Amino acid sequence: MTTHEVTAPALTNMLEARGVTRRQFLKFCGVVAASIGLTEAAIPDIARALEIGATSGKLAPVIWLEQSSCTGCTESLAQVGSPDVATVVLELLSLNYSETLSAGAGHSVEQAKEDTINAGGYILLIEGAVMEGWDGNALRIAEEKGTDIVAHAAQNAVAVVATGSCAVDGGFCAAKPNPAGAVGVQAFLKSRGINTPVVNLPACPVNPEWIISVVVDYLLLGKLPDLDKYGRPVLIFGQTIHDNCPRRGHFENGEFVYRFGSEEEAKGYCLYPVGCKGPQTYSNCPIVRWNDGASWCVEYGAPCAGCSCANPLKAGGNWVDVNAPFQKRHRVVKIGSWITQPSTIGAIVGGFMVVALTAHGFGMKLAGRVPSGAEFEKARAWDVKHPDKALFPKTLKKDGDE
Ligand code: SF4
Ligand code: SF4
Repeated sequence: MTTHEVTAPALTNMLEARGVTRRQFLKFCGVVAASIGLTEAAIPDIARALEIGATSGKLAPVIWLEQSSCTGCTESLAQVGSPDVATVVLELLSLNYSETLSAGAGHSVEQAKEDTINAGGYILLIEGAVMEGWDGNALRIAEEKGTDIVAHAAQNAVAVVATGSCAVDGGFCAAKPNPAGAVGVQAFLKSRGINTPVVNLPACPVNPEWIISVVVDYLLLGKLPDLDKYGRPVLIFGQTIHDNCPRRGHFENGEFVYRFGSEEEAKGYCLYPVGCKGPQTYSNCPIVRWNDGASWCVEYGAPCAGCSCANPLKAGGNWVDVNAPFQKRHRVVKIGSWITQPSTIGAIVGGFMVVALTAHGFGMKLAGRVPSGAEFEKARAWDVKHPDKALFPKTLKKDGDE
């Protein structure tokens, strides 16, 4: 079967009714294939797997639960205002329940959720942090504790997909002082002794292509993707942003942006000095990109804030506590694949980096990938003496080393 033959009339009609062309749909299948490590040869299979849902409804049902969040992950998926392939595809996946997206409401849709749970065999997507505060009363939905809703729905699911950083480790909801006791889904289920496998898809918001790729991976191969130690799919989160960043050449050349609005920024130089967390953040954002592949953070000029950093079982490991303040740089950095080099080569490379970056005023002391919770660089002595010209004049007193 060729890519020209993969869309059956029922699917074609559904796509056209929503303003999505067959070409867009096949392009989307190509992105999904790349996310799960398959070549373009798999596009017809992916399209066919999705097509079955359009014509027979045999695909695994999906429940999407909303907990404490800004609904940004739903927005990321829905991408209001443009014909969006991911939205259509999720319809094909038999989305039986979603507080935000379901057309129905009230008892009928709650019954549909309950019927799905009782039947089993569904994938449970959870958006938002689980709120354990005040004995679970920090979040109540329709007179039920959010904690009870999550525990009930997770029991019978074939897999739970923690969708977005809040669901993974509490995200911004769990940032200090975290008065409402926000935790990630995996930590919560573990505390309740619920062993349903969890796939973590951090980022704020989640990339819709990641969701679809996990679901399609499960449908095509009958198994969940290989996961790293944080429960994230290796094929999506196996490399740093820095590894695939188009500004990487400027980093290597020591061409940096020190101020927004500068000539260096206009030239598209590396954003590391203004807080880019790309060197220590793992995800394929530069490859899959966002908004139907239109762009991504660094490409449109914003430093990576490290929103896909995750530590599901460690309190305080959320991306906000680890990476704020977002426009300050970490003290140390290591360059992607060099971590695999022999130690002597690594030392030479590290020494070279120290010399090169110190020459640019970084004050780095060694090269090494930044662990979660690494210190941020204090203000340079020069900045303290020249507050009118400093990179971050408002923070000098707080962070200065005088
Ligand atoms: S530090 Fe950021 S902007 Fe610079 S090359 Fe790495 S990922 Fe790109
Ligand atoms: S580039 Fe960084 S801040 Fe942007 S979505 Fe990816 S991980 Fe998050």
